Amino acid sequence: MRTLLLFSFFLLIPILFTAQVENIDRQDVIVPDIPGYQTLKCDFHLHTVFSDGTVWPTVRVTEAWEYGYDAISITDHIEGKPYRKYVPIDYNAPNDIAKQEGAIKDIIVIGGVEITRNMPPGHMNAIFIEDANKIVTERIKNRFARFKEKTSDYAFVDSIDRNHQDYLLALEAVREQEGFVFWNHPGPPGAYDSLTLYQEHIDLFESGLLHGVEVSGWGAYWPEAFQWCLDYDLTLLSNSDYHYPHSISGKSSRSDRRNSTLVFAEDRSAESIREALVDKRTAVWVNDLVVGRREHLEPLFYNAIEVAKPHYIDSRRRKFVKIHNTSDFLLEIEFISGMAGAYFNDMILKPRSSQILVFETGTDTIEAKVRNFHIAPNEQLPVQFTIQVDGAN
Ligand SMILES: [Zn+2]
Ligand SMILES: [Zn+2]
Repeated sequence: MRTLLLFSFFLLIPILFTAQVENIDRQDVIVPDIPGYQTLKCDFHLHTVFSDGTVWPTVRVTEAWEYGYDAISITDHIEGKPYRKYVPIDYNAPNDIAKQEGAIKDIIVIGGVEITRNMPPGHMNAIFIEDANKIVTERIKNRFARFKEKTSDYAFVDSIDRNHQDYLLALEAVREQEGFVFWNHPGPPGAYDSLTLYQEHIDLFESGLLHGVEVSGWGAYWPEAFQWCLDYDLTLLSNSDYHYPHSISGKSSRSDRRNSTLVFAEDRSAESIREALVDKRTAVWVNDLVVGRREHLEPLFYNAIEVAKPHYIDSRRRKFVKIHNTSDFLLEIEFISGMAGAYFNDMILKPRSSQILVFETGTDTIEAKVRNFHIAPNEQLPVQFTIQVDGAN
């Protein structure tokens, strides 16, 4: 009997361990690398029950696995704890919990918080922080203490911050930890939808306390914020700010493609992601739109396509060539010159599919632009397709 019990115990061990990994398929999201860097898909703005989100931190990791992300950061509000009657205030807990799950699923989890103040400066995420407790200012602690007796109806303890500039203390604490800070959702449909750049923001950019801006969030895109990033040399970000599970928030954001910050990193590690953010090696992907600096979007586009050698030349010497989109980007190509006019003026090259280019008689180059790759607020990426000849590739 005893042997049987012991035997049963050992039989159970593998069952207990394997139970930690759910049987969920990961959707492979194909995004090309660019020379010298891997392209990582990241979402640096997510909430859990440790602030006003509705999921446990491990769910965010499982969603990252399922939807093909490489890295996430859980950024619960420091100043908003609506469930504090039921969930203890512990500023490091969400990422600590998520990191354990991340190790199992090979998802990089980066420590973070959302510093939540009224405008200006509004909401800011601090990521790559060591200890979130050190970012909580005395004023915020006192406000929580004062509202201790209140129940979950009192969610946020922020207030108009412009006069006492308490947010500067929080940002200085982030700087001491060498954290990376970006301004969240500066545009509609949020609570702070003014899309206004205040002097306070400019001061933060110039003093090196604020390093980037979400130019896209909640399925929306804010070209004005893209222009600020170009004007003040800031990092571009695009994050979901999900509060509900992906299955619910994904629908309410009306986003076909969940927000992603594409990070061009030397390798798939947290440290390389940090270096890339500091060096502004990012692009933004939301729905069908890809936004970024030309130096990144150009190689991203050319590495997403393959142009074959001509498979047919007709009686008018027009060359027929297959073009293949190897990526999950939708590519909206508008031809400017070189494409045989009898065919078409533009082309929608769907993810992982092929179409045919027709080079006009006497030309080996088609000039075009990619309508949904934006290298400035009103500027689309110009591209060229050139006939491949023997000996070249
Ligand atoms: Zn926010
Ligand atoms: Zn948020």
